[in-house]
Amino acid sequence: MAYSTSVQRHKTREVGIDDHVVGGDNPIWVQSMTTTDTADASATLAQIKKLEDAGCEIIRVTVPKKADVEACMAIRDHITIPLIADIHYDYRMALACLEARTPSGRRAVDKIRINPGNIGGVERFKEVVRRAKDQGVPMRIGVNSGSLEEDLIEKYGFPCPEAMVESALRHIEIAESLGYHQMIISLKASHVPTAVECYSLFAQKSDYPTHLGITEAGSREYGTLKSAAGIGAILLRGIGDTIRVSLLGDPVPEVKAGFDILRATSRRINEPEVVACPTCGRLDIDLERIVAEVEQRMKGLKHPLRISILGCLVNGFGEAKEADIGIAAGSGKGIIFKRGVPIRHVKEEEMVDALWQEVMRFEEDTPPL
Ligand code: SF4
Repeated sequence: MAYSTSVQRHKTREVGIDDHVVGGDNPIWVQSMTTTDTADASATLAQIKKLEDAGCEIIRVTVPKKADVEACMAIRDHITIPLIADIHYDYRMALACLEARTPSGRRAVDKIRINPGNIGGVERFKEVVRRAKDQGVPMRIGVNSGSLEEDLIEKYGFPCPEAMVESALRHIEIAESLGYHQMIISLKASHVPTAVECYSLFAQKSDYPTHLGITEAGSREYGTLKSAAGIGAILLRGIGDTIRVSLLGDPVPEVKAGFDILRATSRRINEPEVVACPTCGRLDIDLERIVAEVEQRMKGLKHPLRISILGCLVNGFGEAKEADIGIAAGSGKGIIFKRGVPIRHVKEEEMVDALWQEVMRFEEDTPPL
């Protein structure tokens, strides 16, 4: 479905993470992070497998100790998505990850993520950059509102967006002075307006690709909403090249939430969108059941179809016009529309099958994503 409103993507340079290219016109990738003790390689691998099955495209694991580096070496040969090592405090873990190899001889870690504010100063940051350059490994510089440099806090008084962007630009400059350019930047904050402002300000000053997230978003329900508000607002400004929805507990739901945010903001649509009316007192059909059945059947489809299911003939008629395929249902029957043109009258019990047939026909006529 073509809409006149579109978002111009902020132009960023491309940075490769194994076979995934981040930035430019490449897809906005969906990431997640494991919650296991990384050193427990079998538990971590099992969780990564579940995340891969859910569609996760890049995975991050925390690496605070040597045993975690060894686990990465054991894990990487058995997964298909790029593995990122998350480094805090101990820069030696970053150096170890950059050297680490799997039994098959491949790189154990495809990218490292460091927070320059908590690895013990500029010289250590430089050492990590030099090693990453030597090894050809990309790095995410994750500036965090909670760990800004003292001089920036003094200059600005508190960790405001200007201070966070200045910190990011300062570290980019240091890395560039060493001839290193494989950087992806994040400027995470838990406060949504701050995060939106940080990324907006950064995009005005830099063409490095960004990873989006709202830190400490919270429980699954509120965290999903808060992430949708924050990540969604940034995406709608055309900014963002990878995203992660951070939720408390099991990380698997983070993946669906990430894809849902991309789809809701029309930044990346890799499955049909089923739009349903909220229902009201005019409804005289079991719309919830119909929508649930349609959504169930759509699982696994890779077309950016917009399917609308409306609960009455009068209003549904107009609203179904905005969809690729729509149905306006009511009083035990319905009308199926294709791009606004009524094509079939169906009984309530035939609705789901008839809609499915039309979706299949539509699929045959349009190439997959
Ligand atoms: Fe109510 Fe009809 Fe609107 Fe659905 S489409 S909310 S049933 S008026």
